[in-house]
Amino acid sequence: MQQAASNSQIDPDNDQGIAALRHEWVAEVVRPLKPVFMEVIAVSLFVNILALCAPIFTLQVYDRVVSSGGLTTLQGLVIGMVLVAIFDFFLRQVRARILQTVALRVDVQVGKKLFEKLMALPLRTLETKPAAFWQLLFRDVEVVRNTLSGASAVLVADLPFAVMFFALIFVLATPLGVTLMVIMPLFLALAWFSARAQQKAAKREKRTLSSRDTLIAELVSGRTTIKALALDDRMRPLWEERSANSIEEAILRGSKNDTHVNLSASLTMMTNVILTTVGALFIVAHEMTMGALIASNMLMGRLLGPLNQLVGSWKVYLSFRQSVERLGDIFAAKEEIQESRISLGRPKGELAVENVVFRYKEDAAPTLDSVSMKVTSGGITAIVGPNGSGKTTLLKVLMGLYPCESGRVLLDQADIAQFTRRELAEWMGYVPQECVLFSGSIRDNIAQGMADADDEHILKASRMAGVHPFIIDLPDGYGTPVGEGGSVLSGGQRQRLVLARALVGDPPVLMLDEPSSNLDRKAEEDLARTLLELAKEHTIIMVTHSPVLLSVSNRVVALDKGRILAAGPSQDILPRLFARPAAPPAPASAPATAPVASVPPANPGAAP
Ligand code: ADP
Repeated sequence: MQQAASNSQIDPDNDQGIAALRHEWVAEVVRPLKPVFMEVIAVSLFVNILALCAPIFTLQVYDRVVSSGGLTTLQGLVIGMVLVAIFDFFLRQVRARILQTVALRVDVQVGKKLFEKLMALPLRTLETKPAAFWQLLFRDVEVVRNTLSGASAVLVADLPFAVMFFALIFVLATPLGVTLMVIMPLFLALAWFSARAQQKAAKREKRTLSSRDTLIAELVSGRTTIKALALDDRMRPLWEERSANSIEEAILRGSKNDTHVNLSASLTMMTNVILTTVGALFIVAHEMTMGALIASNMLMGRLLGPLNQLVGSWKVYLSFRQSVERLGDIFAAKEEIQESRISLGRPKGELAVENVVFRYKEDAAPTLDSVSMKVTSGGITAIVGPNGSGKTTLLKVLMGLYPCESGRVLLDQADIAQFTRRELAEWMGYVPQECVLFSGSIRDNIAQGMADADDEHILKASRMAGVHPFIIDLPDGYGTPVGEGGSVLSGGQRQRLVLARALVGDPPVLMLDEPSSNLDRKAEEDLARTLLELAKEHTIIMVTHSPVLLSVSNRVVALDKGRILAAGPSQDILPRLFARPAAPPAPASAPATAPVASVPPANPGAAP
């Protein structure tokens, strides 16, 4: 059987090999975009060539027009520059359009890749990180898109042309070129220091931001409890602390960035002063023209501009790198089986658990400890036991949602580890403890339980789950929107709708986790009758403490601290487990009783 999903698969690791793997996916995304990036570089080449025209124009005006009064030359030069400006605008527009295509393709491709990956990850992997972490991943996709298609991409395309401007300064005014050569390493050193400082600060900022976002997610999802218990005073210090930490780190990183940007601006100003001084000395000595000095100054602007931007752009590149790595960890994480080797067809619904051990954390005590049981097809098996005894965990292991550490689960003698999530979901309907619906109509929500569910399927499932009368009683009937997470409906209505959703594909096995926790007595008795009817052709396994539901069960498995304490036919087990009898709603195979706290050990680990 598959080992429990390892957390290390998505934990950042500084190992070089792993680091390379974490970046590999972005290379795969960029590779098909190569022709598009070549177009950007080609357009950038022309934009930068056109940028040479302004200094050349200035040089000509100073050296030819001003000195000799050649107004016709000026006229020609101005017309030429107007044409250059129009062409430059056109080229920049083209470059922006091309980059928009890049943005769109990256968004679609990476967004789809991430969505599909999240859908393919095992539940345990998804549970190891807070909700805010998974939400942040979609922001990471935006960071990748913006970096590959925004100002930073233009900067990368422009940087190689800095060499061209440098060369031209050499041609026009060699002494200024030499001076620049001495100053340039200072800019590069500044960019390097800036990168190092930013990297550390950005990591710390990210950590505080993620802690703040986790709290926000909890505040939003727990808003009803916060209001009901007036927890705002309790939440405020938490919020203030986390918010202050993230602001402090943001300021720290920002101030480091500002220092480097400002240093870079001062360095640019000093470079200007030095170049003009050197130029003036050479002009005085008649070794350089005025036009050459001014044109060189303009070219220097074009040269230092990207270098300055580079110092300020480290934040963008660093967050790009972090986003790429975070996404890389997720893309490298182990997936559930996606394709079935062979279709075994719909099972009868016979389940067997063989010596299953499961633990949530590698170093924790097992939540399920050597659990073995057999469930023949048909009938109702009730799982009972005190809170935290592992009942819900056992249901999830039975459904293949949690892979066990050792032992295995068999469905019709086949190890469920070989089946895809889709197959298992098709064969095992599930009503979880927290009944979550999705925004949309009641019809949409019931239909989610089966691919291509038609009206007939939906009506049949609704009738079986006993929700049809309440649905048609609503003004919009099956078209009624359920609101965010089903908030428009009551807990009991949600629970019964979820049962209808579980039934719509007519799965041979039904797993129900406290299916009557939100139901009133009448609805509970209706559910018990429904289950009795369903049990003729379905294998039903339910976690319950309800005497009404227990009264219709055929088998009982009693769990305590992850071990089976008693298992067998209800009529044998229930009297030993429960003290007080209660009236069954329908003909029952066992006396309905109320649970008591202690469970007498009887034949531990036995299969019913
Ligand atoms: P029951 O359904 O019997 O109340 P559960 O199966 O929900 O019990 O939980 C069994 C034990 O496993 C409990 O001690 C609980 O704290 C722990 N547990 C449940 N879910 C998780 C989880 N996602 N991560 C870590 N521990 C968990």
